[in-house]
Amino acid sequence: MSIEKLQDLFYHDLRDTLDAERQLTKALPKLAKAAESEELRAAFEEHLAVTEEQIARLEKIFQSLDKAARGKHCPGMEGLLQEGSELVKEEEPSAALDAALIGAAQKAEHYEIAAYGTLATYARILGMEEAVDLLETTLAEEKETDEKLTAIASELNLQAVG
Ligand code: FE
Ligand code: FE
Repeated sequence: MSIEKLQDLFYHDLRDTLDAERQLTKALPKLAKAAESEELRAAFEEHLAVTEEQIARLEKIFQSLDKAARGKHCPGMEGLLQEGSELVKEEEPSAALDAALIGAAQKAEHYEIAAYGTLATYARILGMEEAVDLLETTLAEEKETDEKLTAIASELNLQAVG
């Protein structure tokens, strides 16, 4: 597809973000399994449930556009998640690995925070008020997840000091 107007760009970014969220639903169980800390594992599992709701919100927006909810491969999320999965493959469970998993997850959250902020801005310009609400709800959840991970890291990072 060609991107000529803001409407096209909005649709393009919507598809990219849908794919990013779908990639995340596949990665979060692996991150949860690799986490040594019970609290971190629970946080990853909880974010999986939240991510499924976020996908449902995106699907609603596709519906309002009369388009199928078809993702477009998101290389950004792929790269971010690959950094996490390499750590999981190469390292044994430890407080240091947990700290690294939090760092990797926060990089993915920041990508999503940027993506939803951008989408909400476009939706507002395009007068799509319902989409703005849906996107801002998810944006707030992503920020909340990021803060929660920071809080968990503040304990786990200290445990990882040798
Ligand atoms: Fe998300
Ligand atoms: Fe997220």
